[in-house]
Amino acid sequence: MDVIRSASSISRVELAGLTSLTQPSISTIVRQLIDDGVIHETGSADSARGKPRKLLAINPANRFGVGFHLGPESLTCVAIDLTGGVVGREVVPLDDTGLTAQLATRFAAFTDGLDLPGDRIEGLAIVAATALPGQEAAAPDLAGVRAELAAKLRLPVLVENDSAAAALGEFWSRRVSREEPFGSVFLSIGIGAGLVFGGALFRGASFDAGELGHLSIKYDGRPCACGNAGCVERYASMAAIVEAARAHQNLSGRLRLEGNTFAAYDSVARAAVNGDPDAFTLIDDAAGHLAVAVTSMVNLLDLGRLVLTGPGVAVAGSIFARRLRAHLAGTAHARPRREIVVELSAQPRDAVSIGAAALVVQASIAPGHTAGQPQAGAASHSTTGSVLRSIAGS
Ligand SMILES: [Zn+2]
Repeated sequence: MDVIRSASSISRVELAGLTSLTQPSISTIVRQLIDDGVIHETGSADSARGKPRKLLAINPANRFGVGFHLGPESLTCVAIDLTGGVVGREVVPLDDTGLTAQLATRFAAFTDGLDLPGDRIEGLAIVAATALPGQEAAAPDLAGVRAELAAKLRLPVLVENDSAAAALGEFWSRRVSREEPFGSVFLSIGIGAGLVFGGALFRGASFDAGELGHLSIKYDGRPCACGNAGCVERYASMAAIVEAARAHQNLSGRLRLEGNTFAAYDSVARAAVNGDPDAFTLIDDAAGHLAVAVTSMVNLLDLGRLVLTGPGVAVAGSIFARRLRAHLAGTAHARPRREIVVELSAQPRDAVSIGAAALVVQASIAPGHTAGQPQAGAASHSTTGSVLRSIAGS
């Protein structure tokens, strides 16, 4: 399934070649998958000898995954088909009543509204921001919510952190091959990375891999709440950029920077891409800092492809991409490195909810690539954050 996904369309002969399975095995498996409805024949390609070869592709509307992204005050709901195409999206407010009950109600209303057949919904994944350093203890147990919801909905329920989910969503919908070491940088209030190796999310020992934001780029740099100094998050995150803009005499007078960080950041980003020199300098400087950290990550892991995603690149993504591409190109002299492809997300603001839904789809049709889930109580710090505390009203 994963080879068919990344190939877009493929013949049985090519499938046998790429999987090292025998032709008879491929024929049997393909017949089962066609009977199951998850793949279909989409046409034929000319063959060198005689009969044209039938092409196989994923049958997108056969099954669906649903992803919920818990924000500070709202819930973004997304449903995708098997190829990662978005079939529905809505944002709804959350109140401070019980989280499990609210999510169950939203799930029913959202899937009913889209008229998705219940037997074709493969599950639900819930994603919240990663906890900020020092806040782990107060975070509620999202793994507990998962168990309650799974029992209530009688469906598989997964939990994941935002950067990891966003990475899998980009991996899935861009049809990245599992042969290609893939990474994504998630720029939001903080900064995270997601890594997909061999088609599977890399999670680390405590489901916390990808803490790019706390990669230090200066040993005696700005102090960080994590205990380290010079963390790139202190220079290039949306929170750091808004902090710098508020302290900037010209910008603080010109732009609307009061209110929440997302809105304030958007006004700086809009000014930067609309020719405001001060705003541009601020974002370009942040992009320069981020480029140094991301280059280290790329070198450490020898990534083949990288996507910039998250609300931080929704407006001013080109500034970040340009800085990063230039820095990567200018520092590739140490050893022969294959040129890395740097792309910008097509849906940076919805990357997390799309990624959550993609987790469900991958778990359903390519389950060998899905790593385990954190257990209740064991790793709550990796899957939830300050946002949940306000939602839970505790
Ligand atoms: Zn730090």
